[in-house]
Amino acid sequence: MAAPEPKRGAPVPGRCAYFVERKKRFCKMIPAPGRRFCGEHGQQEQENDRKRIPCPLDPKHTVYEDQLQKHLKKCNSREKPKPVYFVQDINAGLKDVAEIPDKTVSTSICSNAQSLHNMLQFII
Ligand SMILES: [Zn+2]
Ligand SMILES: [Zn+2]
Repeated sequence: MAAPEPKRGAPVPGRCAYFVERKKRFCKMIPAPGRRFCGEHGQQEQENDRKRIPCPLDPKHTVYEDQLQKHLKKCNSREKPKPVYFVQDINAGLKDVAEIPDKTVSTSICSNAQSLHNMLQFII
């Protein structure tokens, strides 16, 4: 004997379950199959159903739980180096640098300095 709530009643089955406060009735749009809300109110459904959780990288801000994976990839607080593959990248980089002969580097610096010197002389 569950009497319908006097104020709101129940949404019409098969119709959008969004209560339009302004009209004091439920939305009459027909939602897509399997959805409780019509396209217009689907957004609100998502907002309501979504849970915000503190970001594991920085609890000072929160993220939608279902967006966490996405967020972790672009979170501003992810400064800690990622395990394994990040370290490998760093190693590879160092190797590349180490393989450049010192001579080449110093020579090019020298010639750069030389040409700069020449240029300065020219200007002065
Ligand atoms: Zn609706
Ligand atoms: Zn974050």
